[in-house]
Amino acid sequence: MNQEILFIQREELKTKPDTSSLGFGKYFSDYMFVMDFHSETGWYNPRITPYEPLTLDPAAMVFHYGQAIFEGMKAYKGADGTIQLFRPEKNMKRFNQSCDRLCIPQIDEEFLLRAIKQLVFTEKDWIPDGDGTSLYIRPFIFSTEAYLGVRPAKEYKLLVILSPSGAYYGSQLSPVKIYVEEQYVRASIGGVGHVKTAGNYAASLKAQEKADANGFAQILWLDAKENKYVEEVGSMNIFFKINGEVVTPRLNGSILPGVTRDSVIQLLNYWKIPVREEKISIEEVYAAHERGELEEVFGAGTAAVISPVGELHWNDHAIVINDYKIGQLSQDLYDEMTGIQLGNKEDPFNWVVKVAQVEV
Ligand SMILES: *Cc1c(COP(=O)(O)O)cnc(C)c1O
Repeated sequence: MNQEILFIQREELKTKPDTSSLGFGKYFSDYMFVMDFHSETGWYNPRITPYEPLTLDPAAMVFHYGQAIFEGMKAYKGADGTIQLFRPEKNMKRFNQSCDRLCIPQIDEEFLLRAIKQLVFTEKDWIPDGDGTSLYIRPFIFSTEAYLGVRPAKEYKLLVILSPSGAYYGSQLSPVKIYVEEQYVRASIGGVGHVKTAGNYAASLKAQEKADANGFAQILWLDAKENKYVEEVGSMNIFFKINGEVVTPRLNGSILPGVTRDSVIQLLNYWKIPVREEKISIEEVYAAHERGELEEVFGAGTAAVISPVGELHWNDHAIVINDYKIGQLSQDLYDEMTGIQLGNKEDPFNWVVKVAQVEV
């Protein structure tokens, strides 16, 4: 795709929120990227326009049959004013995998990445530079055709919106309490659990609500068939450190292939820490704890980067991990990943993609 990206300027810029009050997903920048699709023309009219509400037909197919997918990534501003993205080509590729599973037309990955860089550069003043802060990037696509028959739509919209986000944890990582869910499931093999489609999150709300009500931070999901094998924690991938070795569930078709997950595996290999991707049952996790070998448990995802688990609650039986303290490996991975993302550490894998250098 070799189209010019049109720029439509807004009359007045918004007042930017205070860095300390950012939180996550509450504020949106001045501009967004938009592009349309029609089966007769392909993707067309790429533009950076003022952030504003959309007008959609009540019969737009997304409201009825849920063709909606998204991505989640971040732009960081380093101490020297370098604006950078972290492995964005992985997100572009996964976006197309989500398109494929939901019968949404493919996008030109290089073009979209170029558009995202252009949008981020336009909005460079929205990238916060406090510790642990970033500009969250949310690309998404949904069907817009007005039609009530069940089939893939012929019209879509692709948008990218930006949201400045605060540090996930205050001043340091803090271990969380997790509920192992046995009644509800997130995803099943053959379904859509391996792609980022809106319905997966709608399906997870009931269990999350139950967990919230009982004082748990997140859900640990088990496999849908046997209710036995560990899949994911909330919307993060999960890792267990057992007797010096790290284990994470193998990608089986119902687990989301996280960019953070892949980065953790590569870092562990680089550090020569044994890591295996394999089926692991919740029973094995509890047995390892029983033997005194369950050293660390942590989630991995773009939002939190690394999220240590302090307690698991399964089948009326709670176990505390590492005395509710942050494990050394969790801390090392967090420091290394955030160091690379901010440009404070060497980037041996060439993960970082530079957008621009601005004055600080
Ligand atoms: C996005 C997501 C992840 C983490 O993926 P990252 O690319 O590391 O952010 C894990 N699980 C689910 C269900 C997700 O939606």
